[in-house]
Amino acid sequence: MIYQNVTELIGHTPLLKLQLPTPNQVSIYAKLEMYNPGGSIKDRMGEYLLVDASKKGLINEETTIIEPTAGNTGIGLALAAQKRGLPVILVVPEQFSQEKQVLMRALGAKIVHTPKAEGIKGAIKKAQALASQLENSYVPLQFENPANPAAYARSLAPELLADFAENDLQIDGFVAGAGSGGTFAGIAKYLQQHVAGLKTAVVEPEGSILNGGPAHSHRTEGIGVEFIPPFFADVKIDEAYTISDDQAFEMVAQMARTNGLFIGSSSGAALAASLELAKTLPPNSNIVTIFPDSSERYLSKNIYQ
Ligand code: PMP
Repeated sequence: MIYQNVTELIGHTPLLKLQLPTPNQVSIYAKLEMYNPGGSIKDRMGEYLLVDASKKGLINEETTIIEPTAGNTGIGLALAAQKRGLPVILVVPEQFSQEKQVLMRALGAKIVHTPKAEGIKGAIKKAQALASQLENSYVPLQFENPANPAAYARSLAPELLADFAENDLQIDGFVAGAGSGGTFAGIAKYLQQHVAGLKTAVVEPEGSILNGGPAHSHRTEGIGVEFIPPFFADVKIDEAYTISDDQAFEMVAQMARTNGLFIGSSSGAALAASLELAKTLPPNSNIVTIFPDSSERYLSKNIYQ
């Protein structure tokens, strides 16, 4: 197969059965989203946000795309925008990883920083202010845009079902972290429609507010919410696990040491939560979880120390 554009490489990522001791001999399978061309799950959404906006007539060949983002969304959007020749401005709270910002700039995006103390809410406000000043601009706004969960419901979720069906396996549990909540909501809702008896678990770091807070900063990057994602309104959530930074980073180290796998801290948190969900499932159940990106994106933050 010869591809014509790097965005054609998005999706159809590998599913890996992890080798580790688990409660109740549960098997844990991880969808390796770092194998997308931009290095994260957000390539799927970046491309689909622009497909959707284009279909709805919200953008044309000269629209500037503006988005508040922790980084991976910026890379995904920058890839999708580059293909279409559209300029991109990404509004990034200043605590996020340098590697992601270097990559966003390399793809041609302009970065605007907002203060760490204002969090993602500050970045959202700034993006909207920039858009109101700039004619022919569009803010996809992943935190509210139904095309965000839809991106995963139409690609990643069917891939999971197909992978399990081809191997005559049933999915008993689904675990994913929440930042915007799009990954969890889009996939959980789709799987619930297709898999009887599925148990779903959402994952947050300590410092996120799903289990009642209090809100504070955390080292685990890419997940954690400052407000309940609107996408959660119509999806059944069986468990919400709050994972400490130490737990997440221990899993990151363990996966490199024992499975030869470089995972980011949100993947580490998803794995720690999968081990918690395993305690509640019958023996020999199957859990599928999402590994959104790679540790290589966080080496400057000493992810292995
Ligand atoms: N992990 C990483 C590394 C991410 O960048 C993101 C997106 N911020 C997530 C998990 C969470 O994904 P979602 O926004 O779909 O909840």
